[in-house]
Amino acid sequence: MNKTRGIAIYGKGGIGKSTVVSNLAAAYSQNQKVLVIGCDPKADTTRTLVGKRIPTILDTMRKNKNTSREDVLYSGYGNVACVESGGPEPGVGCAGRGVIVAMSLLEKIGIFEDDLGLILYDVLGDVVCGGFAVPLREEYAEEVYIVTSGEYMALYAANNISKGIKKLKGSLGGIICNCRGINREVELVSEFADKIGSHVVGVITRSELVQKSEIDAKTVMEKYPESEQAQKYRELSFSIFHNQQFVIPQPMDVEEFEEFFQNFNDDK
Ligand code: ADP
Ligand code: MG
Repeated sequence: MNKTRGIAIYGKGGIGKSTVVSNLAAAYSQNQKVLVIGCDPKADTTRTLVGKRIPTILDTMRKNKNTSREDVLYSGYGNVACVESGGPEPGVGCAGRGVIVAMSLLEKIGIFEDDLGLILYDVLGDVVCGGFAVPLREEYAEEVYIVTSGEYMALYAANNISKGIKKLKGSLGGIICNCRGINREVELVSEFADKIGSHVVGVITRSELVQKSEIDAKTVMEKYPESEQAQKYRELSFSIFHNQQFVIPQPMDVEEFEEFFQNFNDDK
């Protein structure tokens, strides 16, 4: 049995993590067995793979103490195995704690003993909560990638996430630039990556095909396999697969970050 590769994708809420994760999973499913673990309380990572929302681990456990594998594990496009941790009801409890509970259940039902080539974790990263570090801290995922655009808040969150990764001595494989259409966006994100000692591992263009696929609860990979956008996700899957550049990031402090962002934008 080959060792399973665990990859965690972090980023600010709404930045495009789930879209990246589901399309990567679809790309990798062509030649290996993939498991996707949605660790965001939004619980929509696997929707475009399965074609619908699936019951979350936390919801299922609330209803049934003896949750079985069949209750929480769903098969999606390309036979990708899909689970969603879910979260607490809004306003009560800690979302990170939900991830811990979900991961223990997955261990109990033996998911990590399956012969998996790759596990992709979709992890929210703009909440200061210990639980969000679970995939990394518990060494489920040995590689991390951060999704960002060139927007201030997205980069700010990316910098914060790298602080967490550094603290946990995690291994940052690179930055994924999910473009929003900002001026000199790839250049800005590359400079950011460089500043924290990393590199841009892939660039995903903004495309309306993402929304069009989303309406049908499909990935771009499934709905528009011949499109340029699908090719972008395929290229990203190759770069990550063959990536050799792993670092403990060197995040900026708040002042450095401000200066970096201002300087870039002054320098037109
Ligand atoms: P996250 O998981 O980080 O919260 P999502 O993957 O759900 O973010 O993406 C947020 C929204 O942005 C979605 O509605 C999605 O359709 C859109 N989106 C993500 N990536 C792209 C892209 N490359 N082009 C156009 N829209 C995108
Ligand atoms: Mg998401």
